[in-house]
Amino acid sequence: MNPVYSVVVPCYNEEDCLLQTHARLSAAMQGMDEPYEIIYINDGSRDKTPAMLDDLAARDARVRVIHFARNAGHQMAVSAGLDYAAGQAVVIIDADLQDPPELIPEMAARWKAGAQVVYGQRRKRAGESRFKELTARWYYRVLRRLAGDAFPEDTGDFRLADRAVVDVVTSMPEHARYLRGMFSWAGFRQEALPYDRDARFAGQTHYPLKKMLRLAANGILSFSEKPLLWPLWCGLIWLAVAVGMVVKLLVRHLLGWSNAALLVPFLLVLGIGSVLVSLGILGAYLARVYEEVKGRPLYVVARTVGFSQPPPIDKARIKA
Ligand code: UDP
Ligand code: MG
Repeated sequence: MNPVYSVVVPCYNEEDCLLQTHARLSAAMQGMDEPYEIIYINDGSRDKTPAMLDDLAARDARVRVIHFARNAGHQMAVSAGLDYAAGQAVVIIDADLQDPPELIPEMAARWKAGAQVVYGQRRKRAGESRFKELTARWYYRVLRRLAGDAFPEDTGDFRLADRAVVDVVTSMPEHARYLRGMFSWAGFRQEALPYDRDARFAGQTHYPLKKMLRLAANGILSFSEKPLLWPLWCGLIWLAVAVGMVVKLLVRHLLGWSNAALLVPFLLVLGIGSVLVSLGILGAYLARVYEEVKGRPLYVVARTVGFSQPPPIDKARIKA
């Protein structure tokens, strides 16, 4: 029988958090008194995470594990969990207890009351640097500007989503995955649940600045075409300035005044700079087009544990 709830938990080197996470998650789920499954995705961990997950699956029939063949990243791990989830409602939650599992019953209650996506909206973030807090806030504002109002602010991947919405998101084949944006794009009845984001239970973030920047870039480049048009506007302004210069020089020349050619090198450098930036923006989109055209599977599964049905091969787009 299919469970009512599937909980999707991406794990990358989480040996210090896992037992505590599983205990708190199980307590929260058991309190709801309905069938559930917990799907842990081992995203190519190099510590004791894989063995610990197998052990959890051996002791708890509601635990399922997807072992990736290599580290594919948080968004891919969650995508795999969504592909394999059998529940009527799917919860996405981090393995480090930054998102409190105790909120899940409240999310489920709102789901039962008719909401189809209940996403956690961060009121404050404990244990995160001032830098991350400021950049995150600033980024969400920019994203809303570029991609439209549909994007909720200060929202991560912690959420509960109805089967109908999950089916939409899993049918989106893009590689440049920005799941919170994809959920928002899907529409349906979405509700925010404000919460305070805790500090990590143990260990360190696996989102170094570089991964963070890539996720941020995916958010903008996958959901807004506006940057592609920036070069056009820059070019038009540039052209207007150039025409003005030419007219001015011509007039001065005709009147026999000294020329204003000193400005020219400065404008030249500025011009080359804006051309290069424009090329860079084109390149950023082109790189993503290339990535999508290759059409590789999103992730490679080495093995799975605890699934009663055969893995949904076609759905999971696994060709290996
Ligand atoms: N994670 C993952 N693959 C990665 C990096 C992270 O599956 O390559 C998982 C990680 O185990 C955690 C979640 O994604 O459950 C969020 O990662 P983390 O807590 O390191 O990021 P932060 O909360 O600092 O943004
Ligand atoms: Mg975290």
